[in-house]
Amino acid sequence: MNKETVISSTKNLKLKQTIESIDYKNCLEDISYLGVFQDVEVAIDEAIKAQEKLSLYYTKEQREEIITEIRKAALQNKELLAKMILEETKMGRYEDKVLKHELAAKYTPGTEDLTTTAWTGDHGLTVVETSPYGVIGAITPSTNPTETVICNSIGMIAAGNSVVFNGHPGAKKCVAFAVDMINKAIISCGGPKNLVTAVKNPTMESLDTIIKHPSIKLLCGTGGPGMVKTLLHSGKKAIVAGAGNPPVIVDDTADIEKASKNIIEGCSFDNNLPCIAEKEVFVFDHVADSLITNMLKNNAVIINEDQVQRLVDLVLLRNNQTQEYIINKDWVGKDAKLFLDEIDVEASSSVKCIICEVAADHPFVMTELMMPILPIVRVKNIDEAIKYAKIAEQNRKHSAYIHSKNIDNLNRFEKEIDTTIFVKNGSSFSGIGYNAEGFTTFTIAGSSGEGITSAKNFTRQRRCVLTC
Ligand code: NAD
Repeated sequence: MNKETVISSTKNLKLKQTIESIDYKNCLEDISYLGVFQDVEVAIDEAIKAQEKLSLYYTKEQREEIITEIRKAALQNKELLAKMILEETKMGRYEDKVLKHELAAKYTPGTEDLTTTAWTGDHGLTVVETSPYGVIGAITPSTNPTETVICNSIGMIAAGNSVVFNGHPGAKKCVAFAVDMINKAIISCGGPKNLVTAVKNPTMESLDTIIKHPSIKLLCGTGGPGMVKTLLHSGKKAIVAGAGNPPVIVDDTADIEKASKNIIEGCSFDNNLPCIAEKEVFVFDHVADSLITNMLKNNAVIINEDQVQRLVDLVLLRNNQTQEYIINKDWVGKDAKLFLDEIDVEASSSVKCIICEVAADHPFVMTELMMPILPIVRVKNIDEAIKYAKIAEQNRKHSAYIHSKNIDNLNRFEKEIDTTIFVKNGSSFSGIGYNAEGFTTFTIAGSSGEGITSAKNFTRQRRCVLTC
């Protein structure tokens, strides 16, 4: 079969859906989506067939054309995707979700990320090239459901793979819609159908089938600790992007006005859903009042000790056996105003973030809340700041931030915390290329070490030698 016969009746597919044109509330029930299958085995088989076609009949240049169409479709549908996620997951902020889709569509690297290394000399030529794994099994979170599908699809297809998604059950409709959108984009430019597939009703059983399938040689997971453990114990090569709890240090050389603005913007972005969002602050005691005053000018509201306790009771639960705190998922990604209403604190509807002063071992510091609640801890000096920041980050090797003009403090914290993302004097989202240099990703693989993932991470290395 060649490229022409694979496609074409679909030439006039409309890439842009409109809110009126789909009933996204009932989408899984009523609509047949391209690439979305009831049976996980079928989703895998179709992805295998599509990848074989991609390998045999399509050049790297054609893969780039496919990616261009995916980017266009994602940009055209960014508002709709943002609306659908809010509708289905009830988490986050619409305008930030639009922005996240724009980031994924525009700044996820394509085929330009793949490089060849060559040696030439008296003995001939040796080349190391990249090759696809084949079909990749991908697990995606509820907090960035379609952003991750778009980002992973671009990188994985750029590398020559197909992908089967087992999305979060709480975001399966959005994932199905995104997979359909991507397939339509691929087909519209002559690409093979089902290069991206998904399980209609993702479960742990469907994930297990993906993990154990002999044709799936690479797994890629984005999510929390349960997923990390499962993939790292899968017996397969796995790119694993797990939880963070990013600390921020503010020392006494920082531009306090800028630091407070950057921290509140990052912490409140999409209501703190991103794994990279600022989760706790360690500030030098003698600049703490100034930092707090400036945060209040940036749509933050401060609450007192009693109100903090009420908030703890609202958003945290206790594991009966271990006595560890766990988050009450009902409150993840909710608007700051909703929390304040519950604890009887008056605030305007423009409030973006709740700040509070707590001790370094407070559960708000030690728990990845994913809520617009920012605990602030006063510290004596940089030694104490780094010590507490490391405890809060829990060696997840994820993300950390500092606001400082002291080069020793900047360097020392960077070296000691050793996170995958480290931002100096900026917001957390600078770490994924928003208002900063560098490409973007929605899969930050701290747990398995690939870091800011892109197409090259979805390839095998092949050495080809010509002797003379
Ligand atoms: P989650 O862990 O509940 O779910 C993530 C994915 O893993 C889903 O597809 C889910 O079905 C699956 N999953 C859940 N438990 C599993 C298990 N025991 N075995 C296998 N798979 C399992 O997370 P969420 O609430 O959807 O997303 C938020 C979490 O993801 C946060 O901890 C956040 O820090 C993390 N995250 C990390 C990154 C990153 O790039 N490192 C990006 C986004 C989110």
